[in-house]
Order: sequence, then structure tokens, then C-alpha cells
Amino acid sequence: MVEGWFTGEGDGFRLLGTRCSACASVFFPREDTHCRNPGCPGGELEEVPLSPRGRVWSYTDSQYRPPSPYVTDPELPWRPYALVAVELEAERLVVLGQAVPGVTVGDLAVGMEVEVVPGVLHEDAETVRTTWQWRPVRGRAV
Ligand SMILES: [Zn+2]
Repeated sequence: MVEGWFTGEGDGFRLLGTRCSACASVFFPREDTHCRNPGCPGGELEEVPLSPRGRVWSYTDSQYRPPSPYVTDPELPWRPYALVAVELEAERLVVLGQAVPGVTVGDLAVGMEVEVVPGVLHEDAETVRTTWQWRPVRGRAV
């Protein structure tokens, strides 16, 4: 489900979107079929890495197990997490994602700078599935 939505590891981890060559709109999740800008005549959609940092636009606490289809295995333990909507200024996009483990809504504020990092979506004996998470940028120059 998240194939092709991100690339790289560690500091090189980036979300991948697509950009329309005609109107320069950027899409995430990636749009590979046609430009979704209603005023655009349509252009080529090319893959682009998104900005690694953005600012918290909104956030919410997800204390409850989300409804299907988000959790497929009801036997898995459900861990609460903070869900963050992050505005990427350059792309004029808002990207949803989980906060990194250990970060709660009490640690977040609208306008706070966060960076995208790889995180574990699901882990079992054979596979670790990676997703993206948002981590507050602490104690670093903006
Ligand atoms: Zn376009």
C-alpha cells in the first residue's frame, strides 16, 4: 500500500510525491495518472522527493483502534499514537502521518517544526514494514 511513497534511509529518508510539469502542482500521495488540478490542461507527472521538514498544521490523539481497514489484525496490540498533519510550505501540501513513538499530543504545538523519519508500521517474525513518521525538530537551528 505504501510502495513508492518514500525513499532512502536515515537522514536521506524522503517522502515521494509527483509534480505536474504543466502547473507545478505537487501531489502526495503520488498521482501517476493525471494532474488533479482542475484548471490545468494536464502535464507529465514526474516523481519528486518532498521537503524533509514541515510545520505542524493540526494534530489529534488516536487513543482508540481505528476502524477497518486501517488495522487488519484485531489480535495485534493497539498502541495509541499522535496523528499529525504537517504543512510542507514549498509544496503547499499537508501530509498526514503518525508522530514518532513516545511523542504525544502534549509534546506538539501548531507551527512546530517537524522532520520526516522512517518508522515501523508493522513488524512480525519475517518482515518489518516501514512507514514515515514525524519527529519534532528539537534544539536545532531552523
Ligand atoms: Zn497540472
